[in-house]
Amino acid sequence: MLKGKKAIVTGGSRGIGRAIAIEFAKNGASVALIYGGNSDAAEETVQEIRALGGEAVSFKCDVQSFEDTKNTVEEILKIFSKVDILVNNAGITRDSLMLNMKEEDFNEVLDTNLKGTFNMIRHLYSHMMKQREGRIINISSVSGIAGNAGQANYSSAKAGIIGLTKSVAKELARRNITCNAIAPGFIQTDMTDKLSPKIKEAAIEEIPLKRMGQPEEVAKLATFLASDNAGYITGEVIKIDGGLYM
Ligand code: NAP
Repeated sequence: MLKGKKAIVTGGSRGIGRAIAIEFAKNGASVALIYGGNSDAAEETVQEIRALGGEAVSFKCDVQSFEDTKNTVEEILKIFSKVDILVNNAGITRDSLMLNMKEEDFNEVLDTNLKGTFNMIRHLYSHMMKQREGRIINISSVSGIAGNAGQANYSSAKAGIIGLTKSVAKELARRNITCNAIAPGFIQTDMTDKLSPKIKEAAIEEIPLKRMGQPEEVAKLATFLASDNAGYITGEVIKIDGGLYM
């Protein structure tokens, strides 16, 4: 489905990003993974893709940094010559009620999730415009649509990603570039593993499908959005949450 395509997946070393990188590679894309600091996880994902016969490279890059992301995009363009697909997936949580939320926890979550998405799009913008083709997929969250107690920082960032997605979709549509957001619910990754069993049980009880989602299920949706089959979909926010927020 993605034969010959070149893709960047931020946060591609673990969890949802890792599953997207692997699924893209299985579908014929070459993948550049960006990760924050866990080199072992990044290397493991690269090796898994290579073992499948795919092409993968990894870059340590802090998506919060305008400079760092600029240099990394330039390096990737040198290796791949082009980028067809950008997935902005890198994200963190720093949960607490507003009453106790520290300023640095608000800033860090906004800088990673929202500013990181802006940085990557900004540095690939003119490349994709000149190419007159491209797919941008931003990973938001149902918390950005419905809000979530204890996640004022995260929900703000994820809601911001939706506004960013729609604005970029409008700007780039005439260049045949689509920009969509995926809003996952509860997906089984390191991010949700750190929640207490009690919170997880309560969440699963609320989900009509009565289970958490798997990263591979999000990856299949991302692969569809990245493919030619999704050429007439732009500015959309697609929930994948087992029916949690119908
Ligand atoms: P995860 O397992 O914690 O993985 C996070 C990934 O982001 C890692 O690859 C990490 O790299 C990378 N990352 C974090 N900060 C970074 C930075 N400053 N610069 C570059 N890379 C950075 O998370 P996940 O659950 O797969 O979540 C992926 C995305 O889906 C996030 O945007 C998250 O908000 C969103 N999401 C997740 C869920 C869920 O239930 N899991 C639900 C809704 C939305 P290192 O390994 O090097 O740290």
